[in-house]
Amino acid sequence: MSEEVKARKKMIEVRNLKKIYRMGDEKIKAVDDVSFDVLDGDFCCLIGTSGSGKSTILNLLAGIEKATSGDIILRGKNITRMSEARLAGFRQSSLGFVFQSYNLIGTMTALENVELPLIFKREKRKVRRKKSEEMLKKVGLEKRMDHKPSEMSGGQQQRVGIARAFVAKPKIIFADEPTGNLDTKTTVEVMTLIKQMARENHQTIVMVTHDPTLTEYADKVIRISDGKIVETKINQAADAAV
Ligand code: ADP
Ligand code: MG
Repeated sequence: MSEEVKARKKMIEVRNLKKIYRMGDEKIKAVDDVSFDVLDGDFCCLIGTSGSGKSTILNLLAGIEKATSGDIILRGKNITRMSEARLAGFRQSSLGFVFQSYNLIGTMTALENVELPLIFKREKRKVRRKKSEEMLKKVGLEKRMDHKPSEMSGGQQQRVGIARAFVAKPKIIFADEPTGNLDTKTTVEVMTLIKQMARENHQTIVMVTHDPTLTEYADKVIRISDGKIVETKINQAADAAV
């Protein structure tokens, strides 16, 4: 069988996922029985208005929050049944994150920020340096390696965030409104970068956004409203957006 027709594996399987927040007597169904799959190497976009439950879904998938019920299977492993210690190890070995507010460490240089995931993976200092420098070159920041976040523009800070998310080559990358604080031109640059890097390394992406113009980058677009999936679209022409 040729590569093209071989069925791709499911990298992410979400089954009947629920998250209920209790606020005094009130119950908020932030995620209300959500099920979906993401195939290996696909770019999946969760779109919806503010408060629809997108970030909660992403945080559950990333193991940052605990589900009320349901299953989340990443790379064939059910993370809802993992111990905290195993989950922490799994996150370090398999997952990467890009945040809206970049979440860089202010006292560290760009290079030191990018090195962090490799320190957690116990890579040797020399290897760490080399990989991080290469990654910063890739995102166009070879001249900003020794800059601290406060000495960079928002777009540059997010490029550092992307370099940090990809440097350890995680199989899955989660991004929550990664361009939410950026202007239109920088948004296109950052989105193109994320997509190119993921395609190059055959990584799977789940990105959350409220911006409909960003859905063109995705292979699969899932619309969320009031904690539920209301529409799923497969975008055959997603490669045209790179
Ligand atoms: P989105 O990312 O789509 O804007 P969220 O996932 O942040 O939406 O929120 C979904 C719903 O859950 C909202 O009604 C929000 O107020 C509520 N919510 C989110 N986090 C909490 C929390 N920690 N405690 C109580 N309610 C929460
Ligand atoms: Mg959100």
